[in-house]
Amino acid sequence: MKNSLDVCVQGQPAHDKPSMNKPFLPYALPELGEEEIAEVVDTLRSGWLSTGPRVKRFEADFAAYLKHAGIHCLAVSSATAGLHLALEALGVGPGDEVILPSYTFTATAEVVRYVGAIPVFVDVLEKTFNISPDAIDAAITQKTKAVIVVHFAGLSCDMAPIFALAKKNNLKIVEDAAHALPTTYQGRLVGTLESDFAVFSFYANKTMTTGEGGMVVTTNSELAARVKTMRLHGINRDAFDRYTASAPAWFYEVIAAGFKYNMPDMAAALGIHQLKKLDGFQKMREEMAQVYDAALQDLPLTLPSAALAGDIHARHVYAIRIGRNAPLTRDAFIAELSKRGIGTSVHFIPLHRHPYWRNTYSLNERDFPVSQTLYEEEVSLPLYTKMTSEDQERVIDAVRAVLEFRRELA
Ligand SMILES: *Cc1c(COP(=O)(O)O)cnc(C)c1O
Repeated sequence: MKNSLDVCVQGQPAHDKPSMNKPFLPYALPELGEEEIAEVVDTLRSGWLSTGPRVKRFEADFAAYLKHAGIHCLAVSSATAGLHLALEALGVGPGDEVILPSYTFTATAEVVRYVGAIPVFVDVLEKTFNISPDAIDAAITQKTKAVIVVHFAGLSCDMAPIFALAKKNNLKIVEDAAHALPTTYQGRLVGTLESDFAVFSFYANKTMTTGEGGMVVTTNSELAARVKTMRLHGINRDAFDRYTASAPAWFYEVIAAGFKYNMPDMAAALGIHQLKKLDGFQKMREEMAQVYDAALQDLPLTLPSAALAGDIHARHVYAIRIGRNAPLTRDAFIAELSKRGIGTSVHFIPLHRHPYWRNTYSLNERDFPVSQTLYEEEVSLPLYTKMTSEDQERVIDAVRAVLEFRRELA
C-alpha cells in the first residue's frame, strides 16, 4: 500500500494487483502536501471543526482567484448540493423543464428532480463531448426554465450561442463546472461568465480537492443571499447580523425549510492550500496531456480536443476513443490495460442508458446518437499530478502494445 488515500477514488479500489512485477497504477489519486496536513491538524487543535474562519478564508481566496468584480463564492458540502441550491435560488420548480446533456454524471440531472422539475435530455457534439447548442434550441418549449451545461473534461462549452439562446428565450444558465477548474472561455475563467451560476466540485478525484466539497459562484447578490441562507437550514444570519446586533447571541430566525449543505472547516483547510497549487497542477496536467498526444497520435484511436488558442483546458479527464478503426473493442481495450496493471475509467455512461432516467423519461438511445457513439468508444486514461513520467510511460507502452500487437494480428 502506498498510503491510505489510495483506498477508494470514485468507487474504484486501489488493487495492489501485481502485474509484470509492478503495482497497479490507479486511475486517479489526489495530491496532498504537508501544508494541507498541517492546516487540518491546526483546525483540529483550534476546536472549530464546522463552518467557521477557514471556510470564510477559502471563499475569500477563491473569489480572489477568480478576480472578478462583485463575485460571490459560497462553499458547500458538494457540487451536487451546490447545483441543487442554484436551481432552488433561481426558483426552478414543479412543471418547469431544465435542459441538460445526456452525456454527464447523474448529479447534473438528479438536482432537477430535487426541486420537482423535469429534466430534458439532449445530445452532445462529437468533437468536444459538450452539449449541442442546436439540440438545446430544438428542445426549448414554453415550460423551459433553465439549461445546465457541463464543461466536459475541463474543456469549455461554446457559450456564446448558448447565452444567445438564453437571452432570446428568457432562460437561466447554470454551469456544472465540476471538471472546469481552471478553464477559460474566450480568455475568461469559467465562474466569471454571464451565466446565473457556476458550480465547482472538490470531490477527491477532481482537479483540486477538499475530500468532499463544492463552490457556488454567482455575480448576483440576491441569488447569493438565497444560497447562503438555504445552505444552512434557511437561517437568515445576514438579517440577524444587520438588524439585530443588539439581540442575544442565541437568537436566530428561520425563513425557509433550508438544507444542511455547509462546508466544514476541516475541508476548507485542504481547499486553502489546494487552491494555491491549482495553477501549477493545471500546468502539469496540460504537459502530461501533450505527452500523451504526441506519443499516441499515430495509433488507431481518437485523441481529445484541445482548447482553442489562448484558452485553458483544465484537463480533468484525458478521454480517448477506441473506435471502428481500432483492432479491438473499447471493453476489450480496458480489460487489456487492466491486465497490464493500468487503471482506466469511462466518462460517462450517458444518462439515457441508466434504468432510472431511461424508464422514468422513456429515453431512447436513437435520440442520442452522438452520446451513444462516444459512450461506446470512450476510455479515460490516468492523468494526475502524482503520476511520475515513468508511470505515464507505462501507460503509453501499454496502450501502444495493445493496439499495435492487435494490428499485426488483424
Ligand atoms: C463530480 C461531478 C459532479 C458531482 O460533484 P460532487 O462534488 O461529488 O457532488 C457533478 N457533475 C459532474 C460532471 C461531475 O463530474
